[in-house]
Amino acid sequence: MTLADTPPSQRYLGARAPAYEQTGNVAGATAEQWVDAAIAPRGKPSLMGGPIARVHVFWLAGMSCDGCSIAVLGATAPAVESLLTGAIPGVPLMLLHHTAVQVEAGEAFMEPMRRAADGTLGEPYVIVYEGSIANEDKLASGYWSAIGEELNAAGEMEQVPSAIWLRRLAPKAAAVIAIGTCATWGGIPAAMGNVTDSMSVADWLGPQYRSALGLPVVNVPGCSPVGDNFTETVAVTLLFLQGVGPAPELDELGRPAWLFGETVHRTCTRAGFYEEGTFAKKFGDKECLVEIGCWGPVVQCNIASRGAINHMGGCMNVGGACIGCTMPGFPDRFAPFYKAPPGTLISATGARLNGSFVRPLRLITQRKMNREKRWDHSAGSMPGGWGADPSTSTFDKVTGFFYDFLRHRGAHGTGKKG
Ligand code: SF4
Repeated sequence: MTLADTPPSQRYLGARAPAYEQTGNVAGATAEQWVDAAIAPRGKPSLMGGPIARVHVFWLAGMSCDGCSIAVLGATAPAVESLLTGAIPGVPLMLLHHTAVQVEAGEAFMEPMRRAADGTLGEPYVIVYEGSIANEDKLASGYWSAIGEELNAAGEMEQVPSAIWLRRLAPKAAAVIAIGTCATWGGIPAAMGNVTDSMSVADWLGPQYRSALGLPVVNVPGCSPVGDNFTETVAVTLLFLQGVGPAPELDELGRPAWLFGETVHRTCTRAGFYEEGTFAKKFGDKECLVEIGCWGPVVQCNIASRGAINHMGGCMNVGGACIGCTMPGFPDRFAPFYKAPPGTLISATGARLNGSFVRPLRLITQRKMNREKRWDHSAGSMPGGWGADPSTSTFDKVTGFFYDFLRHRGAHGTGKKG
């Protein structure tokens, strides 16, 4: 049975919210009340410009490990704190509703979501979905992942799946952002076997889905994603919502095009080793990792240039091979991990051939560039006692002559010699 054959679940139609509960914290205040009192009162103009003061962000979690939340908490450019306090000019304050970092609990936590679903929130909202979506439509009882509970027709309390909340909230949302590979493409829960019939947010909402502002699902993949990729995408989306920025530029798969347009390989710190045809034999070696399973040459991701947190870390930078975690084909099409991708046979052989010519030539040039000019004329006068050979061989002189000839071709004036 395919998803198209599965009718949307009727189980939760007509379910009723239970009675409102105390907030679950000693202050007795919700996050919304705290933001109202401390930072950005509801209905007041934006602190930093723009007609919208604040935007609710409902963070829903499906089949998730919470790794995306952790990654986002570590973001620095922009930092979550900047979004939560409305400190970025033009970007509305983000009023976050997140199960793991919320100050309220129980029905007090659920209440803004209920207002958003029935259209009485009175402020714009964005949905962020973390984790893949198990096919809750197939279940006659029970659930895979849920947020909050409601009274069903029989008067019993029943957990409401996050996927059902997504279906309720998505039509009126300004944008739906899928974070992490599970939410963007299905990820690990949708890997071979897939007993839960897990899928991505876009698969669950269907190809016709558009947000209230006309946006298809925005996909920020990665397992876990670069936190900055997410916060930057949110900031750009909120600027668009504010009316001061263009719609985010997304590629044909809904990824921010400026973040996922290049392959890992193009900005990898080990790309020079690849180009010279030198490859790691084992983890811990400094060279290119392609022969021990790096898929960087075909994987679209910016982790090598952006780093994992605060421009530091990131797979290849710390010795890890790229296993394609940002790609829709992950994980099945990249398995088994840590085995040379088939294309390596051609590309690494070509790089080896090229490198076998280029590396010796570069060594000759490097040797010349490691010499000051006067050392060529007065052997042994090199300062210090570090053991470098101060002599100039005939080979050095001949190659140096041709090198200089090529270097100066077409040049005029001073500085031609040496
Ligand atoms: Fe490319 Fe991977 Fe080698 Fe880096 S380690 S240069 S991404 S193949």
